[in-house]
Order: sequence, then structure tokens, then C-alpha cells
Amino acid sequence: MRSFCLIGILFFFLLTGQTTEAQSFSDSLNAQTQLSQRGEVYFRFPVQIIENQPVVFEFISRFISIDAKKGGFIYAYANATGFRRFLEYGIHHEVLTPPSLLLHTRPWTVSNLKSTNDWNYYPTYPQYVTLMQQFASNYPQLCALDTIGTTTDGRLLLFAHIRSSKSLPKERPSFMYTSTIHGDETVGYVLMLRLIDYLLKNYGVDPTVTDLVDSLDIWINPLANPDGTYASGDASVSGATRYNANGVDLNRNFPDPALGDHPDGHSWQPETKAFMKLAEQHQFVVSANLHTGSEVVNYPWDTWQRRTADDDWWQLVSRQYADTVHTYNSSGYLTNLDNGISDGYDWYRITGGRQDYMNYYRHDREFTLELSAVKMPDPVEMPGFWNSNYRSLLNYMRQALYGFRGEVTDSLSGKPLYARVFILAHDVDNSDVYSDSVSGCYFRPVKGGTYDVTYSADGYVTKTYSGLVARDGHLTVQNVALKPDVNWITGHEKNKPFIYPNPSRGKITLKGITGMSTIKLYSLSGVLILSKNIMEDHSMDLSGLPRGTYIMIIENEGTQRIQKVVLY
Ligand SMILES: [Zn+2]
Repeated sequence: MRSFCLIGILFFFLLTGQTTEAQSFSDSLNAQTQLSQRGEVYFRFPVQIIENQPVVFEFISRFISIDAKKGGFIYAYANATGFRRFLEYGIHHEVLTPPSLLLHTRPWTVSNLKSTNDWNYYPTYPQYVTLMQQFASNYPQLCALDTIGTTTDGRLLLFAHIRSSKSLPKERPSFMYTSTIHGDETVGYVLMLRLIDYLLKNYGVDPTVTDLVDSLDIWINPLANPDGTYASGDASVSGATRYNANGVDLNRNFPDPALGDHPDGHSWQPETKAFMKLAEQHQFVVSANLHTGSEVVNYPWDTWQRRTADDDWWQLVSRQYADTVHTYNSSGYLTNLDNGISDGYDWYRITGGRQDYMNYYRHDREFTLELSAVKMPDPVEMPGFWNSNYRSLLNYMRQALYGFRGEVTDSLSGKPLYARVFILAHDVDNSDVYSDSVSGCYFRPVKGGTYDVTYSADGYVTKTYSGLVARDGHLTVQNVALKPDVNWITGHEKNKPFIYPNPSRGKITLKGITGMSTIKLYSLSGVLILSKNIMEDHSMDLSGLPRGTYIMIIENEGTQRIQKVVLY
């Protein structure tokens, strides 16, 4: 739990004189009360600021958390520090009742699990943990419970890991759903619990479900910010906060392609670290992050105006998601922006979001689903949300099975290879994928078309296939055998210094160093980045450098060796 000092915050406001004449005293008091009791304040201000003061808007959006742009207003949250900085700009605003405190006509929770099958309630935190445990214990052949970490307040970050035993997980594309990274956005929380239940109950019964569970390595996390959702205590989601227990918006806390490691100025939170670790350990092919506050499918990028390499693919799968919903719900649901879909940046820019992190740093394809205009609807509405969305949710999972896939192997030994799969004149901003080092399998969803695809691995001769054809909603298999590069092997046999692994994510070791050696690392434009003397095999961490190609010169016993270093 958290404790905030009301007196201190009041003093702060008095000190900075931040009650402007235009701003009512009751608004200020309301803000102070929210900050002291909840650690965050919910407010809105006119959307015109984006046009009138674009630079100011760009700046303030780094320390307040923009939630939605709708009906002529920008809706936002802030912690005490962020709100104080916002007030310095004198922007007229209106403090709003937090969505999780709006009146509800019936209890939020049920006391026994008998009504589980109705999925029309918000579980208590212990009920949630029990449900997740029961999925694994009731279906041990299909479902494992994975704890990827604990939160600031010691709650669990849980995944249902669903896969049949038909093949090894690494021979299948990994798919991830995660919800409620904003603790007060609870629709996806219930839908994901129900989706787990649906997949497990219908395996071997429903051919679509059976095929998904047999073909995918499925990871589902219903609750990514349990400290936020249960901010008022384990017994109820009423009073949930957007932020985590440290007052940080977790969906602004990830490394950002445009702004680097800490775009929000906060250190990586325990929740963020746990998700980053999971994403490093498992190559997710397709994923989604579920929110509420609007009704739209939001595809990357959020941080950049420029489009992804796969913009046409994103429009296709986003359109499919929304159109399928509209087929089964014609009431105008999920029709915001372009009839239910939007490029993220075109809607409003966010930085530090998990979507862009997954796409840029992890070579995944992730979009953001905004499932309800009401942030925390009455739980009796959950079956309606399920009926509108479940076909789309299942269909989106299938996207990981389409496009190019295959196995990359050594042409002599047949052993699986870790290789880069790059679509020429197409891939940009890390949209390329890598094969798994254990299975050699790669998965590359892509819009239907004809492509030239290059396969490369350290120590092997690069191979390019021209005119590979992909079709929408279909799979194209291309297995690849790479020939060892004889020159590369000779270099190693002579025990000359070499860099391993290369390409890497930053942690490399220089091997074969004998005697005093000098290493120098240059950027491609010739800027010296580091210079160092070493005596023996030497490990170094370059993960702080931007992704790209560098040149390393190793001077060793009068000889000079020049090598490329590739960071991805
Ligand atoms: Zn959200």
C-alpha cells in the first residue's frame, strides 16, 4: 500500500501559487485529495492545445499520462510531481472523478467461485490467483502457471502458458495477450480470464481452438498491474488506479525507439523489468496489449509519425479485428477514429509504451486494443464485450501462423542456426526477424506480396531467395540451408581474435586475445566510441549503444584485425 502526505502536497500548491483565478478552488482541492489518497489525479483539458501550443503539448505529455483524446478534450492522469509541472503552464483544466470510483449499483465482486462460468464479475485478488492456479491444475497437459515476477507491493505477475504437447514450443510461433497495464482498465482483465478458460475447455472439442493450441505457444497475462487494480485492497477493484504502487504509468516506462531507455524519467519498475525479461527470453511473434478508455484498434508506431515496414499488414489485421466485431455487434461499438482503427501516432503520441518496445526492440508485432469507452464498466456488461470480441481475439492469434516461416540450418551438419531473416527493400526499424538458435525456426507475418528475402548467419555464406510469394491468411514455408563460410572458419582455426556472439544484443566477448592488445570501437561514420587495452579474453557490454553496425579494430602483437560488430 502507499502513503502520501496531504499536508506536504497542500503546502506544495500554496508554495507554488498554483490556484489560478480561472481554476476553481474546489478543483484544486479535488486534485489534492486524489493525489493524497490515490497517488494520481484524473483530469481533462481542451484539445485545442495540440493546435495552439504543440510544443507545450509535446513537452507536458512526457510527465503527465495522456489517456484519450475524445469529445474535444484530452483526458489525462498525473502523479504529484507531474501535476505540479502541468500546473506551471497555466492550462485551464477540469479535475474529474476517477473512473474506478464512479457509482455502481451492485457489488463489484462475488464471494464464491460458483458463478465463474458467467464471467460477469471482477474477481478479488485472491480469487484471481486461485482461478489462475485452477487453470493449470485442471488442465496440466495444456496449461502451466508462470510467475514472471512480483510487484512493488508483492503481488504476482501471472501468465497462463498454454500449449499442447504436439510439438516443442520453440518450433511454434509464440503469441502473447496481456491486459490491464493500466490498473483501472478492467475489461481485458475479465476477457483474458475467459479466453484462457475458453481455450482450455474447447481444446479437442472446437477445431479452431484445437488448432490454435496445437500450433501456437500461447502466453496470456490477464492482469499486468495488480497493484493498480487492487490499489484500495485485495477485496475489490473499486478504487483502482491507472499507475502502479510507485505512482508510475507502466505503459510509459519502457525503452522508446525515439527517446531511448527512460522516456518518462523514471527507473524501470519491477513490472517493467519482469516483462522485458520475459520478452528477451521468448521471441514473441505477435502480441497485443489490452486497454479501455476508447474503442479502437491502435497499431504502431505510437512514438513516430513514420510508418512501420508492415503498415499494410497492420491495416489488414486491424481492419479484420474491427470488421469482425462489427459483424456481430452493429450497435456502433468499436467505431472510434477510422471506424475502429488508427495508427497510434495519428491519434496522439505516446512514448515509453509497451507496444513500440515490443515492435522495435523485440522484433515482435504488437498492437494496442482499446476495448471500451467506459474505462471500468459494470461487470454485468462483460459477457457482451466477450460476445463482441472473442472471434476477433481468436482470429488475431492466427496471424502468427501466416506469412513466411521455416527452418534455417547448417548445410553440412543440418544443425539449427540462429540467423537473420531480412526482407530486402522492405524491412526497416527492426521489422526483420531472427530464427531460434535451438530449433532454427523463424516466423515472419507479412502482407501478401512478392518479396526478396535474405538469410544470414555469422560464419555462413548469406543466401537470398528472390520472388518469394506470401498470401494473406496463408503460410509460405521456406526452409534454408546455409553453407559455412570457409574463410571465416580458417580465421578461427588460426586462433585470431574474434567477437562472440556477433550479431548480439550488446554483451560480447573478445576471444583469442594473446598478449597486450588494443581495441578501438568506431561508429560507421568514423567516430571513436571507445578505446581499451586488454591482455586476455575480454567481455564487454555494449547494450547501451544504439542498435546498428560498428567497426572494431583489434591491434594484437603488431597485427591489425578489423571486424564488424552488429548490435540488434
Ligand atoms: Zn490504458
